[in-house]
Amino acid sequence: MQRIEIPGRATYTPVALTDVLVGAPFASRLLLGAFLPGQVVAMAAFGYYAGSAARDWYVRKDVKYVDFTAEYGSDVRTLGNMTDDDRRTEVARIAAAMDADWTPARLPRGEVAKRVSRRLTQYLSTITDQEVVISSEVRDFTLAKVVFPFALGACDPIGGDVAIFKDTGLFEPHIVAHEFCHRVGYFKELHAQVLAYLALRTSGDPILVQSARAERLHRHLAILTGGKPEKFRDAIDALPVRHELREGLRRLRPDPGAYETGVGKAVRALYDKRMRLMGQNGLSDYDVGFTNLLFTFAHSKTARQPRGHADP
Ligand SMILES: [Zn+2]
Repeated sequence: MQRIEIPGRATYTPVALTDVLVGAPFASRLLLGAFLPGQVVAMAAFGYYAGSAARDWYVRKDVKYVDFTAEYGSDVRTLGNMTDDDRRTEVARIAAAMDADWTPARLPRGEVAKRVSRRLTQYLSTITDQEVVISSEVRDFTLAKVVFPFALGACDPIGGDVAIFKDTGLFEPHIVAHEFCHRVGYFKELHAQVLAYLALRTSGDPILVQSARAERLHRHLAILTGGKPEKFRDAIDALPVRHELREGLRRLRPDPGAYETGVGKAVRALYDKRMRLMGQNGLSDYDVGFTNLLFTFAHSKTARQPRGHADP
């Protein structure tokens, strides 16, 4: 099997290079009273960053990407539509499966990243017959955390940096897998959501399977409750599952703070627009698109991949 390594050198530096780029001139003004030394540092960081990104892009040109229409019978523009009843049926099935297979086991973030990265490589290789190896580095901090305190994490599509800001418990493997899909070169959110889900769901690893199901379940609930935090909480409380699982599911939707409701709305609107400009359906691809694609796949007559992979 062909093996391709995307070096991702920018992901191994002790501090995110984009932070050095933005932060160094201000830090030097603050500490030394002059912008220039910081600007020199920023330029050096930029050189390394641009070199790393260019190398990654060059290597990616040999990567064979999954053809969603052929493999799953659906893509960004050909999504089927789930009714609310379809969603409620899936919620019940996923919740029952999660309750039956519940595991309290947790892994440190570094181990999650390694396991997820390995699994993603393995899963993609079963479809493309190519072993694409990526960096499994994950940061706990970038400046984006200060600017967007409500964000769970951030991914820099150019440098490949991935940062996770919050401990989201059972959701973490899926969040990491989603960001790693971008690192491989799947830049559309729908593609990252679906590949992350399928890779983890078919892994046979209880922690990864649980995380994939948690993501799918919480997206359904978010749609059914119109994204309203109170209704969302009630929906989780109403699930006939063990108490620990309910606790785990509640973690992803804390009440939005003042900053989030104000700035969050504006940022979200901008982000939605940016996604549309880039040939995606907008923010709905994270939940409506994601769940619809799996549903379409499960009922597809043309998909090359086993439809059972879309089972809850
Ligand atoms: Zn993403």
